[in-house]
Amino acid sequence: MRAINAIEKDFNLLEYKQELLAKKAGKHAIATLGSHCSLQVLKGAKVEGFHTILVCEKRRLGLYRRFAFIDELIEVDTFKEVLGDECRKRLKQSNSVLVPHGTLISQMNSDEIEKIETPIFGNKWILRWEADRDLKEKLMIEAGLRIPRAVKSKHDISGLCIVKLHGAAGGRGYYLAWNRESFEEGARRLIDQNAIRSENDLYIQEFIRGVPVYLQYFYSPVTGDLELLGIDRRYESDIDGIGRIPAKQQLGANIEPTYNVIGNIPLVLRESLLDEVYKMGENFVRAAERLVPPGMTGPFCLEGVYDSEGKFTTFEFSARIVAGTNLYLDGSPYSGLLYDDPMSMGRRIAREVKIAVKKRKLSKVVT
Ligand code: AMP
Repeated sequence: MRAINAIEKDFNLLEYKQELLAKKAGKHAIATLGSHCSLQVLKGAKVEGFHTILVCEKRRLGLYRRFAFIDELIEVDTFKEVLGDECRKRLKQSNSVLVPHGTLISQMNSDEIEKIETPIFGNKWILRWEADRDLKEKLMIEAGLRIPRAVKSKHDISGLCIVKLHGAAGGRGYYLAWNRESFEEGARRLIDQNAIRSENDLYIQEFIRGVPVYLQYFYSPVTGDLELLGIDRRYESDIDGIGRIPAKQQLGANIEPTYNVIGNIPLVLRESLLDEVYKMGENFVRAAERLVPPGMTGPFCLEGVYDSEGKFTTFEFSARIVAGTNLYLDGSPYSGLLYDDPMSMGRRIAREVKIAVKKRKLSKVVT
């Protein structure tokens, strides 16, 4: 009997704590699109005491209705309706902050994203720099990051190269080329599949040998601190499965690997590499402040390859939350060094909104 009372007391305390958190969070809601990392974002927002809203495609309602931490669903046929009057009105009424992620970027172009009237967490202007290869390269160079050599023309290919499609394709359609012929062969295949219209839709980059690593950061313009919250690697089909096929059969079957992201795998780095990880993140934050005001607010990811000498070459960045952070709903080996609470990236975003509201600095963390 005593045990049951104790449990009840704990339960009441928990409810009381949630209520208190809600009061502290002010009257803002956190909203996002139903895909990519929305569960993590809204779960984190709920734990921090926010009202949570999911803009959800009708075909996915069944999935998202399963989760009690989602307070409100705005039903849409396509995510572009975020720009429409009805959606905008509902997000405004609830005083929402919209958290952007990979789906927003892949479903809307930069002009459309910049037109969204709902306050967006982070810097919406920097999303254009993520989507545009030339701007992306400019920012990485400004940050002093080591980047792969860009190969301007198929006639300049020497050595192993990776051929990429423009936009956030998640590695889909990427292929390897080592001379003009292999480049053209791959391009023809993509044209036949209607994946591209011409060779001009492709971007050639030096292939970096080593192991791919994704560094998940959070920068707070309110405190001025950069945090490393997690590290992952991607599990890509079918390049990561090819090792299961012996060389003889690989050659016989004439296999062309692809780099389509299927999932993410947790990773920790040698501790001696961490100092450089923080320096790269800080340089990136400073470069973004110079080139894309107000800078790199909130979550971002540097994506690259460590070679056999432990040198990191950055081939991409994401200027918003990445799906690899879904691994760390209960915190990561790195967030655990900074927070006593289990701090996911989604929760960290909500915590930042809460702190900013409290300090009357919300305009510093949204655009
Ligand atoms: P991305 O869509 O740019 O993140 O790339 C998808 C995948 O392609 C990565 O996870 C890597 O496995 C691979 N990749 C991309 N660029 C390079 C590069 N320059 N060198 C080696 N591998 C790369």
